[in-house]
Amino acid sequence: MSTKTEPSFRESVDLMFNHAVALMDLPPGLEEKIRVCNATYTVRFGVRLRGKIETFTGYRSVHSEHMEPVKGGIRFAMGVNQDEVEALAALMTYKCALVEAPFGGSKGGLRIDPRQYEEHEMEQITRRFAYELAKRDLIHPSQNVPAPDMGTGEREMAWIADQYRRMNTTDINANACVTGKPAHAGGIQGRVEATGRGVQYALREFFRHPEDVAKAGMSGKLDGKRVIVQGLGNVGYHAATFLQHEDGCRITGIIERDGALFNPDGIDVESVRSWIVKHGGVTGYPDATHTASGAAVLEEDCDILIPAALEGVINMENANRIKAPLIIEAANGPVTAGADEILREKGTVIIPDMYANAGGVTVSYFEWVKNLSHIRFGRMQRRQEEARHQLVVDELSRLDEYLGDAWSMTPDFKEKYLRGADELELVRSGLDDTMRTAYQKMSQVWHERDDVKDLRTAAYIIAIERVSSSYRAKGL
Ligand code: NAD
Repeated sequence: MSTKTEPSFRESVDLMFNHAVALMDLPPGLEEKIRVCNATYTVRFGVRLRGKIETFTGYRSVHSEHMEPVKGGIRFAMGVNQDEVEALAALMTYKCALVEAPFGGSKGGLRIDPRQYEEHEMEQITRRFAYELAKRDLIHPSQNVPAPDMGTGEREMAWIADQYRRMNTTDINANACVTGKPAHAGGIQGRVEATGRGVQYALREFFRHPEDVAKAGMSGKLDGKRVIVQGLGNVGYHAATFLQHEDGCRITGIIERDGALFNPDGIDVESVRSWIVKHGGVTGYPDATHTASGAAVLEEDCDILIPAALEGVINMENANRIKAPLIIEAANGPVTAGADEILREKGTVIIPDMYANAGGVTVSYFEWVKNLSHIRFGRMQRRQEEARHQLVVDELSRLDEYLGDAWSMTPDFKEKYLRGADELELVRSGLDDTMRTAYQKMSQVWHERDDVKDLRTAAYIIAIERVSSSYRAKGL
């Protein structure tokens, strides 16, 4: 057992950053400038609830403004604190750089347990928090653009957007002040599923690289792989359900707040989700074995482990017992720096958070662009595309007639080919391209450099290089 102490989340991010920077040749002092958080704002505000004033504490941390606006989610959870928000803001900087989303990094959080409040109370609290941030330009279409994170979703983003609009009645770009809004309130198709979808695309790309799959001591395709997922929230649910229904994966374990479900033959993600909605947890779900200790299921035998809940769940205490040869960090910071070292030595391959969960910010970027351009993607070209496809189909139909039995179009070709892409298809295509390109770059650095031993270090090197070029272009 190691005698080292477990670093905090922010220390973990810094240690991983330092590890990568040691392999780079940055101008003196720039390393420190990139690493530190530029500013963290703490706001304390009161809301009158149930006949008394309750005081809440919230944060918005701006890690790097090498590009503006800065971008990053807002988390509602009891564990929110400055260290966590700063770590998450730093990860946002590197994540945006890695997937080439033109933003600096930021993150926010409110210390609250949303389950303790009625919807109208949550609206009051969220609007007040948004007011506190917006009046300091910590919510602003060209300076700071939040998004959903743990404990928040479309509902909260719609309240935040509306609050900003009320405070800035003549701002034509007000809708771009926050992303992750509902489609009917300035959002974009595919944002809710985006982070989970990105996890799926990341895994697909990983399995297109047999040499990387071999590094994890695995072989073959994604089809049939046994998956354990922790956290069946927005990210975990979408990742698990897509992998189950579209890639043939077997979900053998689901870990939630109230314990874990395990079934080596596979668990139906959709029905567990419905069970949680109805019963508030996984306890009592009939078609799998329930274990009260969720953490134990992290250590079960499987091919792919997807921590999609919170940080620090794989740490120096349990890292040695983790059996999965491949971990994809759908959550932010689920593996501590200490555990990262242990797992690397064991040969476990980790697809790092800054890449694995970048689907959310990627589609947020598309939403922000849509809001600024005031037009839905595909609106101008869809029917024109269909008309051009019609020309090809008409020619093929003539050939079909001419060749008789010798050749004919496959039955659904016409229908599939004719249809111009709608917004959802365009979003998924843009996301897929982003995830593939970023993975290829990471994998290239991993293979080309002997001193780079894992994908995380490769990801940091690419991201830091881009941030540093940006700073240098600004004359720093
Ligand atoms: P969420 O609130 O929708 O879901 C979190 C889930 O984890 C819930 O089902 C919750 O019950 C479960 N959970 C909480 N504590 C747990 C515990 N101790 N053990 C097991 N399960 C537990 O949150 P989310 O948006 O899915 O975010 C999850 C992670 O993904 C976070 O680390 C977040 O920062 C990261 N992330 C989210 C997005 C996004 O677009 N929502 C984008 C990038 C990264």
